[in-house]
Amino acid sequence: MARILDGKGIAAQVKEEIKREINLWKEKGINPSLAVVLVGDDPASVYYAQAKKRVCDSLGLDYRLTNLPPSAGEAEVLKIIEDLNKDKAIHGIMVELPLPGHINTKKITAAIDPLKDSDGVNPVNRGYIMTGDEGLYPATPQSCIEILLRSGVEIAGKHVVIVGRGETVGKPLVFMILRHNATVSVCHSKTPDLAHFTGQGDIVIVAVGKPRIIKAEMIKEGAVVVDAGINETEEGMCGDVDYDNVRNKAGMVSPVPGGVGSLTTALLLKNVLKGIVLQRKL
Ligand code: NAP
Repeated sequence: MARILDGKGIAAQVKEEIKREINLWKEKGINPSLAVVLVGDDPASVYYAQAKKRVCDSLGLDYRLTNLPPSAGEAEVLKIIEDLNKDKAIHGIMVELPLPGHINTKKITAAIDPLKDSDGVNPVNRGYIMTGDEGLYPATPQSCIEILLRSGVEIAGKHVVIVGRGETVGKPLVFMILRHNATVSVCHSKTPDLAHFTGQGDIVIVAVGKPRIIKAEMIKEGAVVVDAGINETEEGMCGDVDYDNVRNKAGMVSPVPGGVGSLTTALLLKNVLKGIVLQRKL
């Protein structure tokens, strides 16, 4: 039976580290703060914005929500970002995505000050992922890596097969995991015979958004399987991995819930603190 990659337990450790760091900043007279911009009332976005507030409150990190109606225009959102960029009391900014269709998401993400871009969505930070420069990297691919490292999994020299090349998880993860000296294969919807590739992975990381598409017969015996997928089904939340069967073949596997997703908010808040360091380096 596979060992469980315990995202929840790791998140608790990371939150303790964040709490300590927040207290150190407070002793220096700096009150770490995150500004969240929510446009409209998309239920998932409202849920994630509230969840972030709960975690910020529990850690002592200031949280400021700007909630705009669904009819808010692009110029209005850009003005808010511009004000938050200038606001010295704000150290991190994140805009809940997706934005309503009449707003150009790329314009909004490009407007966020790269040094306050806690969600790692600004093209400058995206570029740093490729060049390896220090920057603010997106939290979910970081979670995939952190869950491995903090569980004692060696990444260097391993064949990592990433399933999914989405902008949020798969694509940035390719370059981030390369820096850990893995050999990387990337699969997507046009990959013929997905199992041929996943079956070769020492580590298989899945970020697709389709319930249980990775079956036990698609992985090799003893592989480490990380599931970033979040799918709402009639039976409740599940990942992209057929967890109940894969755990009988894998060496390690991350559950959903309780895996990658549990760590994401904590790593987003870690980015707020990293942002303070980067802002002070200027
Ligand atoms: P996305 O942008 O929709 O990308 C999905 C990727 O999966 C695409 O590259 C797509 O290929 C590929 N794909 C689709 N069907 C496939 C198939 N049958 N075989 C192989 N690849 C296939 O999604 P995303 O935003 O990256 O998110 C991926 C998953 O992560 C979702 O379940 C999302 O909810 C979850 N997520 C979790 C967190 C967290 O905190 N844990 C955060 C963000 C997202 P093409 O490129 O060819 O279309």
